[in-house]
Amino acid sequence: MRYSILSLAQQALRNHQHWPQIIAPKNLKSHYSIVIVGAGGHGLATAYYLSQNHGINDVLVIDSGWIGGGNTARNTTMVRSDYLLPASFALKNFALELWGSLSQALNFNLMYSPRGYLDLAHSDGELEHFMLRANAMCLGGASASILTRRQIAEKIPSLNLSKQTRFPISGALFQPEGGVVRHDAVAWGFARQASDQGIHIQQNCAVDSIQVNNGQATAVITGQGKISADRILVAASAGSARLLADAGIPLPLELINVQAFVSEPVKPVLDHVVNYNAGLSYISQSDKGELVMGGATDGYISSARRGSFARIEDTLKRVVQMFPFLSNLRLMRHWSGTADIPMDGNAIVGATEIDNLFVNCGWGYAGFKATPAVGWKLAELLADGQLPEMLKPFALNRFAEGRLIDDSGIGPYPWLH
Ligand SMILES: Cc1cc2nc3c(=O)[nH]c(=O)nc-3n(C[C@H](O)[C@H](O)[C@H](O)COP(=O)(O)OP(=O)(O)OC[C@H]3O[C@@H](n4cnc5c(N)ncnc54)[C@H](O)[C@@H]3O)c2cc1C
Repeated sequence: MRYSILSLAQQALRNHQHWPQIIAPKNLKSHYSIVIVGAGGHGLATAYYLSQNHGINDVLVIDSGWIGGGNTARNTTMVRSDYLLPASFALKNFALELWGSLSQALNFNLMYSPRGYLDLAHSDGELEHFMLRANAMCLGGASASILTRRQIAEKIPSLNLSKQTRFPISGALFQPEGGVVRHDAVAWGFARQASDQGIHIQQNCAVDSIQVNNGQATAVITGQGKISADRILVAASAGSARLLADAGIPLPLELINVQAFVSEPVKPVLDHVVNYNAGLSYISQSDKGELVMGGATDGYISSARRGSFARIEDTLKRVVQMFPFLSNLRLMRHWSGTADIPMDGNAIVGATEIDNLFVNCGWGYAGFKATPAVGWKLAELLADGQLPEMLKPFALNRFAEGRLIDDSGIGPYPWLH
Protein backbone atom coordinates (compact mmCIF):
# COMPACT_ATOMS: atom_id res chain seq x y z
CA MET A 1 0.00 0.00 0.00
CA ARG A 2 1.22 3.53 -0.84
CA TYR A 3 1.01 5.95 2.05
CA SER A 4 -0.68 9.22 1.04
CA ILE A 5 -3.31 11.70 2.25
CA LEU A 6 -5.85 9.63 0.32
CA SER A 7 -4.94 6.30 1.95
CA LEU A 8 -4.90 8.01 5.37
CA ALA A 9 -8.40 9.41 4.77
CA GLN A 10 -9.69 6.04 3.53
CA GLN A 11 -8.32 4.23 6.59
CA ALA A 12 -9.68 6.95 8.90
CA LEU A 13 -13.17 6.31 7.54
CA ARG A 14 -12.64 2.62 8.43
CA ASN A 15 -11.49 3.44 11.97
CA HIS A 16 -7.89 2.54 11.12
CA GLN A 17 -8.81 -1.13 11.54
CA HIS A 18 -7.76 -2.24 8.05
CA TRP A 19 -4.15 -1.16 7.57
CA PRO A 20 -2.35 -4.15 6.01
CA GLN A 21 0.34 -5.86 8.09
CA ILE A 22 3.70 -4.37 7.06
CA ILE A 23 5.91 -7.42 7.47
CA ALA A 24 3.89 -10.58 6.88
CA PRO A 25 5.27 -13.68 8.66
CA LYS A 26 6.60 -16.39 6.28
CA ASN A 27 8.29 -19.75 6.67
CA LEU A 28 12.06 -19.65 6.28
CA LYS A 29 13.52 -21.24 3.15
CA SER A 30 16.50 -23.57 3.49
CA HIS A 31 18.62 -21.44 1.10
CA TYR A 32 18.95 -17.76 0.14
CA SER A 33 21.42 -16.00 -2.16
CA ILE A 34 22.26 -13.60 0.65
CA VAL A 35 21.64 -13.79 4.39
CA ILE A 36 22.02 -10.60 6.44
CA VAL A 37 22.33 -11.08 10.20
CA GLY A 38 20.83 -8.05 11.97
CA ALA A 39 17.67 -6.09 11.14
CA GLY A 40 19.08 -2.76 12.29
CA GLY A 41 19.20 0.24 9.98
CA HIS A 42 22.41 -0.96 8.31
CA GLY A 43 21.23 -4.52 7.58
CA LEU A 44 17.83 -3.35 6.35
CA ALA A 45 19.29 -0.57 4.19
CA THR A 46 21.65 -3.10 2.60
CA ALA A 47 18.72 -5.40 1.83
CA TYR A 48 16.70 -2.54 0.35
CA TYR A 49 19.53 -1.36 -1.93
CA LEU A 50 20.29 -4.96 -3.00
CA SER A 51 16.76 -5.07 -4.35
CA GLN A 52 16.45 -1.46 -5.49
CA ASN A 53 19.86 -0.95 -7.12
CA HIS A 54 20.82 -4.50 -8.14
CA GLY A 55 17.53 -6.40 -8.55
CA ILE A 56 18.58 -9.03 -5.99
CA ASN A 57 15.59 -10.11 -3.91
CA ASP A 58 16.52 -13.60 -2.74
CA VAL A 59 17.67 -12.14 0.56
CA LEU A 60 16.93 -12.98 4.20
CA VAL A 61 17.37 -10.40 6.96
CA ILE A 62 17.27 -12.21 10.28
CA ASP A 63 17.24 -10.72 13.78
CA SER A 64 17.28 -12.16 17.28
CA GLY A 65 14.93 -9.37 18.38
CA TRP A 66 12.71 -6.93 16.56
CA ILE A 67 13.25 -4.53 13.68
CA GLY A 68 15.42 -1.61 14.82
CA GLY A 69 15.53 -2.94 18.41
CA GLY A 70 19.33 -2.75 18.58
CA ASN A 71 21.14 0.58 18.54
CA THR A 72 19.12 1.90 15.61
CA ALA A 73 16.07 2.80 17.68
CA ARG A 74 18.12 3.64 20.79
CA ASN A 75 20.15 6.44 19.29
CA THR A 76 19.74 10.19 19.59
CA THR A 77 18.85 10.61 15.86
CA MET A 78 21.64 13.04 15.04
CA VAL A 79 23.00 13.21 11.47
CA ARG A 80 25.95 15.31 10.23
CA SER A 81 29.21 14.95 8.29
CA ASP A 82 31.62 17.22 10.17
CA TYR A 83 34.60 14.87 10.03
CA LEU A 84 38.19 15.79 9.19
CA LEU A 85 39.51 12.45 7.94
CA PRO A 86 38.47 11.79 4.32
CA ALA A 87 37.24 8.21 4.95
CA SER A 88 34.82 9.23 7.71
CA PHE A 89 33.71 12.39 5.92
CA ALA A 90 33.02 10.74 2.55
CA LEU A 91 30.65 8.08 3.87
CA LYS A 92 28.75 10.42 6.19
CA ASN A 93 28.45 13.12 3.58
CA PHE A 94 27.15 10.65 1.00
CA ALA A 95 24.59 9.63 3.63
CA LEU A 96 23.54 13.27 4.13
CA GLU A 97 22.91 13.51 0.37
CA LEU A 98 20.72 10.39 0.55
CA TRP A 99 18.75 11.45 3.66
CA GLY A 100 17.32 14.40 1.74
CA SER A 101 15.23 12.30 -0.65
CA LEU A 102 14.86 9.05 1.27
CA SER A 103 11.35 9.70 2.62
CA GLN A 104 10.08 9.95 -0.96
CA ALA A 105 12.09 6.92 -2.13
CA LEU A 106 10.78 4.76 0.72
CA ASN A 107 7.29 6.31 0.79
CA PHE A 108 7.76 6.57 4.55
CA ASN A 109 8.12 9.82 6.46
CA LEU A 110 11.58 9.66 8.06
CA MET A 111 11.13 13.16 9.46
CA TYR A 112 14.55 14.29 8.26
CA SER A 113 14.95 17.75 9.73
CA PRO A 114 18.09 19.56 8.49
CA ARG A 115 17.80 22.15 11.23
CA GLY A 116 21.52 22.88 11.49
CA TYR A 117 24.23 21.40 13.73
CA LEU A 118 26.46 23.50 15.98
CA ASP A 119 29.64 22.07 17.45
CA LEU A 120 30.70 24.45 20.23
CA ALA A 121 34.37 25.35 20.74
CA HIS A 122 35.62 26.29 24.21
CA SER A 123 39.04 27.71 23.40
CA ASP A 124 40.85 29.47 20.57
CA GLY A 125 42.85 26.30 19.92
CA GLU A 126 39.67 24.27 19.52
CA LEU A 127 38.20 26.91 17.23
CA GLU A 128 41.31 26.77 15.06
CA HIS A 129 40.89 23.00 14.76
CA PHE A 130 37.23 23.54 13.80
CA MET A 131 38.35 25.94 11.03
CA LEU A 132 40.54 23.18 9.64
CA ARG A 133 37.62 20.77 9.75
CA ALA A 134 35.22 23.29 8.17
CA ASN A 135 37.69 23.95 5.34
CA ALA A 136 38.16 20.21 4.75
CA MET A 137 34.37 19.77 4.67
CA CYS A 138 33.97 22.58 2.13
CA LEU A 139 36.70 21.08 -0.05
CA GLY A 140 34.78 17.80 0.11
CA GLY A 141 31.60 19.49 -1.15
CA ALA A 142 29.73 20.03 2.14
CA SER A 143 28.69 23.39 3.50
CA ALA A 144 30.25 24.43 6.78
CA SER A 145 31.16 27.69 8.44
CA ILE A 146 32.56 29.08 11.66
CA LEU A 147 30.19 31.12 13.83
CA THR A 148 31.29 33.90 16.14
CA ARG A 149 29.76 34.27 19.60
CA ARG A 150 27.45 36.99 18.26
CA GLN A 151 26.25 34.79 15.38
CA ILE A 152 25.65 31.92 17.82
CA ALA A 153 23.56 34.22 20.05
CA GLU A 154 21.43 35.22 17.06
CA LYS A 155 20.76 31.59 16.15
CA ILE A 156 20.22 30.24 19.67
CA PRO A 157 19.17 32.99 22.09
CA SER A 158 18.65 30.54 24.98
CA LEU A 159 22.27 29.30 24.90
CA ASN A 160 24.35 30.50 27.85
CA LEU A 161 27.19 32.55 26.32
CA SER A 162 28.37 34.07 29.58
CA LYS A 163 32.14 34.26 29.98
CA GLN A 164 31.74 33.41 33.68
CA THR A 165 30.97 29.72 33.08
CA ARG A 166 33.56 27.01 33.66
CA PHE A 167 33.99 26.38 29.92
CA PRO A 168 32.99 29.58 28.08
CA ILE A 169 32.05 29.23 24.43
CA SER A 170 34.46 30.82 21.96
CA GLY A 171 32.71 29.99 18.68
CA ALA A 172 31.21 27.08 16.77
CA LEU A 173 31.44 24.97 13.67
CA PHE A 174 28.10 25.10 11.88
CA GLN A 175 26.77 22.59 9.35
CA PRO A 176 23.36 23.70 8.01
CA GLU A 177 22.43 20.27 6.57
CA GLY A 178 23.10 18.53 9.89
CA GLY A 179 20.04 17.71 11.94
CA VAL A 180 17.91 14.77 13.03
CA VAL A 181 16.11 11.84 11.39
CA ARG A 182 13.46 9.77 13.15
CA HIS A 183 15.39 6.57 13.99
CA ASP A 184 12.65 3.91 14.17
CA ALA A 185 11.07 5.31 10.99
CA VAL A 186 14.39 4.65 9.25
CA ALA A 187 14.35 1.00 10.29
CA TRP A 188 10.66 0.57 9.39
CA GLY A 189 10.94 2.57 6.15
CA PHE A 190 13.72 0.34 4.84
CA ALA A 191 12.03 -2.80 6.19
CA ARG A 192 8.65 -2.07 4.64
CA GLN A 193 10.05 -1.22 1.22
CA ALA A 194 12.48 -4.16 1.22
CA SER A 195 9.70 -6.52 2.26
CA ASP A 196 7.38 -5.14 -0.46
CA GLN A 197 10.12 -5.87 -2.97
CA GLY A 198 10.26 -9.54 -1.91
CA ILE A 199 12.97 -9.56 0.76
CA HIS A 200 12.30 -11.89 3.67
CA ILE A 201 12.61 -10.28 7.11
CA GLN A 202 12.51 -12.69 10.03
CA GLN A 203 12.29 -11.30 13.57
CA ASN A 204 12.83 -13.13 16.89
CA CYS A 205 15.18 -15.70 15.42
CA ALA A 206 18.79 -15.55 16.64
CA VAL A 207 21.73 -16.72 14.57
CA ASP A 208 23.73 -18.96 16.92
CA SER A 209 26.74 -19.50 14.68
CA ILE A 210 28.10 -19.37 11.17
CA GLN A 211 29.01 -22.61 9.47
CA VAL A 212 32.42 -22.54 7.81
CA ASN A 213 33.64 -25.37 5.55
CA ASN A 214 37.12 -25.33 3.99
CA GLY A 215 37.54 -21.59 4.52
CA GLN A 216 34.10 -20.76 3.09
CA ALA A 217 31.02 -19.54 4.98
CA THR A 218 28.18 -21.75 3.86
CA ALA A 219 25.26 -21.34 6.29
CA VAL A 220 23.90 -19.71 9.41
CA ILE A 221 22.70 -21.91 12.25
CA THR A 222 19.54 -20.46 13.81
CA GLY A 223 16.97 -21.42 16.41
CA GLN A 224 14.77 -22.41 13.46
CA GLY A 225 17.36 -24.57 11.73
CA LYS A 226 20.23 -24.26 9.30
CA ILE A 227 19.93 -21.82 6.41
CA SER A 228 22.51 -21.98 3.66
CA ALA A 229 23.54 -18.94 1.65
CA ASP A 230 25.93 -17.94 -1.14
CA ARG A 231 27.01 -14.86 0.85
CA ILE A 232 26.54 -13.93 4.50
CA LEU A 233 26.76 -10.41 5.94
CA VAL A 234 27.03 -10.01 9.70
CA ALA A 235 25.59 -6.57 10.50
CA ALA A 236 24.72 -7.30 14.10
CA SER A 237 26.54 -4.41 15.89
CA ALA A 238 27.53 -5.75 19.36
CA GLY A 239 26.34 -9.26 18.41
CA SER A 240 28.88 -9.37 15.57
CA ALA A 241 31.83 -9.77 17.95
CA ARG A 242 30.77 -13.20 19.24
CA LEU A 243 29.60 -14.53 15.87
CA LEU A 244 32.87 -13.55 14.18
CA ALA A 245 35.04 -14.76 17.09
CA ASP A 246 33.31 -18.17 17.01
CA ALA A 247 34.03 -18.31 13.28
CA GLY A 248 37.73 -17.73 14.04
CA ILE A 249 37.90 -13.96 13.48
CA PRO A 250 38.36 -12.05 16.76
CA LEU A 251 37.43 -8.40 16.23
CA PRO A 252 39.54 -5.61 17.81
CA LEU A 253 36.62 -3.93 19.55
CA GLU A 254 35.04 -3.54 22.96
CA LEU A 255 31.37 -3.43 23.97
CA ILE A 256 30.62 -0.35 26.05
CA ASN A 257 27.44 1.05 27.52
CA VAL A 258 26.16 4.38 26.12
CA GLN A 259 23.14 6.25 27.51
CA ALA A 260 20.61 8.74 26.20
CA PHE A 261 17.93 10.80 27.93
CA VAL A 262 14.77 12.79 27.28
CA SER A 263 13.16 15.52 29.36
CA GLU A 264 9.45 16.03 29.79
CA PRO A 265 7.96 17.67 26.66
CA VAL A 266 7.80 21.46 26.40
CA LYS A 267 6.89 23.97 23.71
CA PRO A 268 9.49 24.58 20.96
CA VAL A 269 12.62 26.09 22.53
CA LEU A 270 15.50 24.75 20.46
CA ASP A 271 15.56 24.48 16.68
CA HIS A 272 19.16 23.30 16.21
CA VAL A 273 21.29 20.36 17.34
CA VAL A 274 24.00 21.58 19.72
CA ASN A 275 27.10 19.76 20.88
CA TYR A 276 29.11 20.86 23.93
CA ASN A 277 32.73 19.81 23.60
CA ALA A 278 34.13 20.33 27.08
CA GLY A 279 33.48 16.69 27.87
CA LEU A 280 30.67 15.57 25.60
CA SER A 281 26.99 16.46 25.84
CA TYR A 282 24.60 17.16 23.01
CA ILE A 283 21.00 18.15 22.75
CA SER A 284 18.12 18.63 20.32
CA GLN A 285 14.36 18.91 20.64
CA SER A 286 12.07 16.20 19.29
CA ASP A 287 8.83 16.92 17.44
CA LYS A 288 6.98 15.82 20.59
CA GLY A 289 8.74 18.60 22.50
CA GLU A 290 11.10 16.44 24.56
CA LEU A 291 14.71 17.57 24.87
CA VAL A 292 16.81 14.64 23.62
CA MET A 293 20.26 14.45 25.24
CA GLY A 294 23.32 12.26 25.02
CA GLY A 295 26.83 12.18 26.41
CA ALA A 296 30.03 10.17 26.43
CA THR A 297 30.22 6.40 26.98
CA ASP A 298 29.82 5.00 30.48
CA GLY A 299 33.51 4.18 30.26
CA TYR A 300 33.44 0.47 31.11
CA ILE A 301 32.84 -2.77 29.25
CA SER A 302 29.25 -3.92 29.55
CA SER A 303 26.42 -5.20 27.38
CA ALA A 304 23.85 -4.86 30.15
CA ARG A 305 22.06 -1.87 28.54
CA ARG A 306 21.70 -0.33 32.00
CA GLY A 307 22.94 3.15 32.73
CA SER A 308 25.13 4.45 35.53
CA PHE A 309 24.18 7.47 37.66
CA ALA A 310 27.63 9.01 37.21
CA ARG A 311 27.09 9.53 33.48
CA ILE A 312 23.55 10.86 33.96
CA GLU A 313 24.83 13.50 36.38
CA ASP A 314 27.81 14.39 34.21
CA THR A 315 25.78 14.80 31.00
CA LEU A 316 23.01 16.78 32.65
CA LYS A 317 25.47 19.11 34.40
CA ARG A 318 26.86 20.07 31.00
CA VAL A 319 23.52 20.53 29.24
CA VAL A 320 22.35 22.73 32.12
CA GLN A 321 25.51 24.82 31.71
CA MET A 322 24.52 25.28 28.06
CA PHE A 323 20.82 25.87 28.70
CA PRO A 324 20.18 26.91 32.33
CA PHE A 325 16.37 26.80 31.85
CA LEU A 326 16.68 23.00 31.65
CA SER A 327 17.28 22.81 35.39
CA ASN A 328 13.53 23.40 35.81
CA LEU A 329 12.58 20.38 33.69
CA ARG A 330 12.17 16.81 34.85
CA LEU A 331 14.10 14.00 33.22
CA MET A 332 11.42 11.73 31.81
CA ARG A 333 13.26 8.63 30.58
CA HIS A 334 16.73 7.32 30.03
CA TRP A 335 17.93 4.20 28.27
CA SER A 336 21.11 2.77 26.86
CA GLY A 337 22.59 0.72 24.07
CA THR A 338 25.70 -1.38 23.65
CA ALA A 339 28.20 0.51 21.55
CA ASP A 340 30.66 -1.70 19.64
CA ILE A 341 33.80 0.46 19.59
CA PRO A 342 36.98 -0.62 17.77
CA MET A 343 40.47 0.37 18.87
CA ASP A 344 40.57 3.41 16.57
CA GLY A 345 36.91 4.32 17.18
CA ASN A 346 35.92 3.63 13.57
CA ALA A 347 33.80 0.98 11.89
CA ILE A 348 34.87 -2.38 10.47
CA VAL A 349 33.28 -2.96 7.08
CA GLY A 350 33.97 -5.31 4.18
CA ALA A 351 35.11 -8.82 3.36
CA THR A 352 36.75 -11.15 5.90
CA GLU A 353 39.44 -13.79 5.46
CA ILE A 354 36.62 -16.38 5.24
CA ASP A 355 35.21 -16.54 1.71
CA ASN A 356 31.63 -15.32 1.33
CA LEU A 357 31.59 -13.87 4.84
CA PHE A 358 31.26 -10.10 5.15
CA VAL A 359 31.08 -7.85 8.19
CA ASN A 360 29.66 -4.45 9.09
CA CYS A 361 30.02 -3.41 12.73
CA GLY A 362 32.04 -1.23 15.07
CA TRP A 363 29.88 1.84 14.51
CA GLY A 364 29.84 2.57 18.23
CA TYR A 365 27.62 5.52 18.96
CA ALA A 366 28.11 7.29 15.65
CA GLY A 367 26.79 4.97 12.93
CA PHE A 368 23.17 6.01 12.54
CA LYS A 369 24.08 9.02 10.40
CA ALA A 370 25.85 6.72 7.92
CA THR A 371 22.96 4.24 7.54
CA PRO A 372 21.84 4.79 3.91
CA ALA A 373 25.40 5.22 2.61
CA VAL A 374 26.57 2.02 4.31
CA GLY A 375 23.57 0.12 2.93
CA TRP A 376 24.16 1.48 -0.58
CA LYS A 377 27.88 0.58 -0.60
CA LEU A 378 27.48 -2.81 1.10
CA ALA A 379 24.83 -3.73 -1.48
CA GLU A 380 27.42 -2.97 -4.20
CA LEU A 381 29.96 -5.20 -2.45
CA LEU A 382 27.53 -8.10 -1.98
CA ALA A 383 26.13 -7.82 -5.51
CA ASP A 384 29.40 -7.47 -7.47
CA GLY A 385 32.04 -8.79 -5.09
CA GLN A 386 34.03 -5.57 -5.67
CA LEU A 387 34.93 -3.49 -2.64
CA PRO A 388 33.69 0.09 -3.30
CA GLU A 389 36.33 2.83 -2.89
CA MET A 390 34.36 4.43 -0.06
CA LEU A 391 34.52 1.25 2.03
CA LYS A 392 38.19 0.38 1.41
CA PRO A 393 39.61 2.34 4.39
CA PHE A 394 37.27 0.48 6.80
CA ALA A 395 38.66 -3.01 6.08
CA LEU A 396 39.47 -5.22 9.07
CA ASN A 397 43.09 -5.65 7.95
CA ARG A 398 43.79 -1.94 8.64
CA PHE A 399 44.59 -2.89 12.25
CA ALA A 400 47.27 -5.35 11.13
CA GLU A 401 48.60 -2.92 8.54
CA GLY A 402 48.61 0.15 10.80
CA ARG A 403 46.19 2.21 8.67
CA LEU A 404 44.01 3.37 11.56
CA ILE A 405 41.19 5.92 11.10
CA ASP A 406 41.38 7.68 14.43
CA ASP A 407 39.16 10.77 13.91
CA SER A 408 39.57 12.07 17.44
CA GLY A 409 43.29 11.19 17.72
CA ILE A 410 42.68 9.48 21.04
CA GLY A 411 44.50 6.21 20.43
CA PRO A 412 43.61 2.61 21.28
CA TYR A 413 41.17 3.40 24.11
CA PRO A 414 37.69 2.50 22.80
CA TRP A 415 35.82 3.96 25.81
CA LEU A 416 37.31 7.40 25.10
CA HIS A 417 36.28 7.53 21.42
C1 LIG B 1 22.59 5.84 23.18
C2 LIG B 1 23.07 5.89 21.76
C3 LIG B 1 23.02 7.09 21.06
C4 LIG B 1 23.46 7.15 19.74
N1 LIG B 1 23.31 8.33 19.05
C5 LIG B 1 23.69 8.39 17.75
C6 LIG B 1 23.48 9.58 17.01
O1 LIG B 1 22.92 10.57 17.51
N2 LIG B 1 23.91 9.63 15.71
C7 LIG B 1 24.51 8.55 15.14
O2 LIG B 1 24.92 8.65 13.98
N3 LIG B 1 24.66 7.38 15.80
C8 LIG B 1 24.25 7.26 17.08
N4 LIG B 1 24.38 6.07 17.76
C9 LIG B 1 24.94 4.91 17.07
C10 LIG B 1 23.95 4.21 16.17
O3 LIG B 1 22.74 3.95 16.86
C11 LIG B 1 24.53 2.88 15.65
O4 LIG B 1 25.84 3.07 15.19
C12 LIG B 1 23.69 2.35 14.49
O5 LIG B 1 22.34 2.35 14.82
C13 LIG B 1 24.14 0.94 14.15
O6 LIG B 1 23.18 0.36 13.29
P1 LIG B 1 23.28 -1.18 12.95
O7 LIG B 1 22.19 -1.51 12.03
O8 LIG B 1 24.67 -1.50 12.53
O9 LIG B 1 23.12 -1.91 14.37
P2 LIG B 1 21.83 -2.22 15.26
O10 LIG B 1 20.75 -1.24 15.05
O11 LIG B 1 22.31 -2.41 16.66
O12 LIG B 1 21.32 -3.59 14.65
C14 LIG B 1 21.97 -4.82 14.88
C15 LIG B 1 20.90 -5.89 15.02
O13 LIG B 1 21.55 -7.17 15.10
C16 LIG B 1 20.76 -7.99 15.93
N5 LIG B 1 21.57 -9.11 16.39
C17 LIG B 1 22.62 -9.10 17.26
N6 LIG B 1 23.09 -10.35 17.40
C18 LIG B 1 22.35 -11.17 16.62
C19 LIG B 1 22.35 -12.57 16.35
N7 LIG B 1 23.25 -13.40 16.92
N8 LIG B 1 21.41 -13.08 15.50
C20 LIG B 1 20.51 -12.26 14.90
N9 LIG B 1 20.45 -10.93 15.13
C21 LIG B 1 21.37 -10.39 15.97
C22 LIG B 1 20.29 -7.06 17.04
O14 LIG B 1 19.11 -7.56 17.64
C23 LIG B 1 20.05 -5.75 16.28
O15 LIG B 1 18.70 -5.56 15.92
C24 LIG B 1 23.97 5.99 19.10
C25 LIG B 1 24.03 4.78 19.80
C26 LIG B 1 23.57 4.73 21.11
C27 LIG B 1 23.64 3.41 21.84
